[in-house]
This record gives sequence, C-alpha cells and structure tokens, in this order.
Amino acid sequence: MARTDDDTWDINESVGATALGVAGGRAAETNSENPLIEDPYAQLFLEAAGDGIWKMYLQDEPPAELAEIDPHFAERMVSMKSYMASRTKFFDDFFLAAAAAGIRQSVILAAGLDSRAWRLAWPQGSVVYEIDQPKVLAFKLDTLDSHGVSSIATHVGVGIDLRQDWPKALVEAGFDPKQPTAWSAEGLLPYLTADAQDLLFDRVQSLSAPGSRISVEAFTNAFFSAESFSRREAQMEQYREIANKLGGKDITESGNLLYEEERTEVTDWLEAHGWDATGIGAEDLMAGFGRRVDSDLEEAFPDSVFVEGRLA
Ligand code: SAM
Repeated sequence: MARTDDDTWDINESVGATALGVAGGRAAETNSENPLIEDPYAQLFLEAAGDGIWKMYLQDEPPAELAEIDPHFAERMVSMKSYMASRTKFFDDFFLAAAAAGIRQSVILAAGLDSRAWRLAWPQGSVVYEIDQPKVLAFKLDTLDSHGVSSIATHVGVGIDLRQDWPKALVEAGFDPKQPTAWSAEGLLPYLTADAQDLLFDRVQSLSAPGSRISVEAFTNAFFSAESFSRREAQMEQYREIANKLGGKDITESGNLLYEEERTEVTDWLEAHGWDATGIGAEDLMAGFGRRVDSDLEEAFPDSVFVEGRLA
C-alpha cells in the first residue's frame, strides 16, 4: 500500500514504526559503554511495542542469520547508531541552549518517541508541545504513565497529522504565538511531500515571534536522487527479509514511506524568510562528537544537514 494524503498509523505500523527504529538507536546508544546521549525511556518503548524489527537494537550482536542477508549488517547498525546518537545530541543541545537563552516555549514537530520533555533539565516554566499522530502520542504517554514517569517540563501533546490544520490545534492547546518558540523537525521531512514541507515551514513562520529558533534535520537533494532511492529500495528488500525473521508486523508492507521528491533546501528557505540559518553536514556533526564513520558502505547514514535558524 502506497502513502496517501490522509493515511494514519499506530506506533507499530507504517510511518509510526520509524519512531520505534529511532528509539531503538537511542536505547542501544544508552546501553553502550560511552554513550553520547542518555535516553532511559527508549528501551521501555521498545519493550512495550511487541515483536518487530526494532527489537534488534536490544540484542548485543545481530543474529547470525541477519549477517547472511547483509554481510555488512553489523557495520551498518554501528554507523546508524552513531548517526542517531549525534542527531539526538544536536537537538538536545539546541533545546538546552534555547532554554538558557530564556525561551520557555518549545514545539517538537513529529515528536514520535522523543522523551526530551521527560529527560532534559528544563528550567522552571518551560512548556513542551509535541505534535504527532494521535495513536503515536497515546502509545508514548501510556507507556511512560505505566512506569510512573513524570515530565520535567510541562508537556502538552497535540495529536494531529501535520498535513492538517495543526496551527489551530496547537493554539487551542495553549501555544502562544506572541512568545518566542524553539521548534524542531527531526526525522520528519522525507515523510512529507515537497509541497507539504513548504507548507509546514510557512506555518512555523506564521507562528514564530521574534527571537524564535528552529532546528531541522534537513535531507539534501542527493538524498532524494534516483541513485540514492534505488540503493534504499534494495536495502528495504533486505529489511523485509530481516523483519520476517524477527517476527511481528512487516514494516515494509506499507511500501516506500518516503516521498522521493527534490525540495527546497531548508537553509535557503529560512534565509529567504528572514531567519539567520547555519547548517552542518551529518559527517562533520558526527566527527565533532567523536563518531567519525570510516566506512565505504553506501547509505551507511543519511545524507543530511543539521540546520539551526534564528529569527531576529
Ligand atoms: N522526531 C522523532 C525522533 O527523532 O525520535 C520521531 C522520528 S520518526 C523517524 C518519524 C515520526 O514522524 C513518527 O513519529 C511519525 O508518526 C511522524 N510523522 C511523520 N509524518 C507525520 C505527519 N504527517 N503528521 C504527524 N506525524 C508525522
């Protein structure tokens, strides 16, 4: 089944399951010897989600049969784990710096199983709004509640699709467009069409008071190129086999979850709309955190740029 304009999902299916994949990377990093980030809740989500490909992150070594499917599987897992850890740290640092600069209102677009509202040292008075599909947020909150975990910042979940009128829902939930906001879009943009991406940024712009900041995992147009797409397709085939071996739902049954379309470069978009924007490529970001990936593997990690923008 291909993506549609109004598709919906639970945590263990379609785009929802990608949030479990990311939580898997964070759980593995947290359990590693010298973790770059600590997310004690990621493992709880994996345990609560039942069987599926995401469980592989909880194993010390990938099962031998997976190495038969892809001889570079272990290497690929290590580089993706480093990528996820570096990406998590980039956004953690962004929110902590925004809070240190006095911003008390944050919005996490496509929050998935992000647990920043529960694990970062937010100053008093901080409010974190999280937007994602209703069932994804419900799964997260139920899991945290069942373990008696309380948020550090005030948490407000806004369960709505980001292709619908989320600004209205956000304001109805208490968001104040007159206050500066720290926004993030992490692991989101390829799941939107190029038009939906532009609309998302238009809406962020309309809700951003002076002094607002934004952080984005932006995917380069090389990421959306035909070659990159066909390499990912081949990998998807392998993951289908892996998913079948590990049991649970076949996350590939929804077909390609990404919209493989070229789109406006995020830094350019922000600059053109009055933001002061800078970007750092994934490889440099990882190297800066001591996570250089010396690998000739293709698609070892996404071709992305981590962008930060500030509105004067
Ligand atoms: N940002 C989180 C993180 O890094 O842990 C989750 C990333 S996960 C790869 C992608 C998330 O985007 C999923 O939680 C999914 O539900 C959400 N998402 C994708 N498209 C969306 C849409 N149109 N509306 C709401 N959420 C969406």
